[in-house]
Amino acid sequence: MRLGTALVLSAPSGAGKTTLVKKLIQEFPNFGFSISFTTRAPREGEVDGRDYRFTTKEDFLQRRDRGEFAEWAMVHGNCYGTPLAPLREMLQQGRDVLFDIDVQGAAQLRLSLPHARLVFILPPSMQELERRLRSRGTDAEDVIQVRLANARAEMREARWFDDIVLNDRLDRAYADLRAAYLAATLAPSLHTSLIDSLIG
Ligand code: 5GP
Repeated sequence: MRLGTALVLSAPSGAGKTTLVKKLIQEFPNFGFSISFTTRAPREGEVDGRDYRFTTKEDFLQRRDRGEFAEWAMVHGNCYGTPLAPLREMLQQGRDVLFDIDVQGAAQLRLSLPHARLVFILPPSMQELERRLRSRGTDAEDVIQVRLANARAEMREARWFDDIVLNDRLDRAYADLRAAYLAATLAPSLHTSLIDSLIG
């Protein structure tokens, strides 16, 4: 049995990451999903413990100080963090884990999980990104403006990821994401027990 791989997906808000993630989970239902802690308020339809673990800033900072996060970052004025314990357990059990985190968190995971595969999802254009952010209709205008300003800065960081996926057409973008994931599962470091057993 191999170890689990960590597939890290980053994208500016509105790049269409959520749709791609849903397709990936549909095809590979055994994916473990890292549920982040966040201090932001739930959006309509979001469920605590499924989408995020919603918490207060005070509780978040206590957890951070106790070393409970594999990474954490301040994004758009709110704190987000990946809890370490469930992550370790899933990888040890051979479950692949999907991360939906920002570029600062991805940089930290690159250090703490050297075999993680880091994939950056790009929107087709800045105009399209803005249109998608507005059509979502869940965020206030000032939130949209902050996200647009941050999107350019985040996209500059795409250079040091392992892969980029341009989300212009869903079927093609998904094919690229799927290829990146399957390639990640072939890393020799995940298969040391197989190699050892073959050698005898
Ligand atoms: P949203 O508030 O739209 O759900 O997420 C905002 C941003 O926070 C997204 O870029 C998302 O990838 C990022 N994010 C979500 N969870 C985490 C986390 O645990 N750690 C980090 N570093 N970023 C996260």
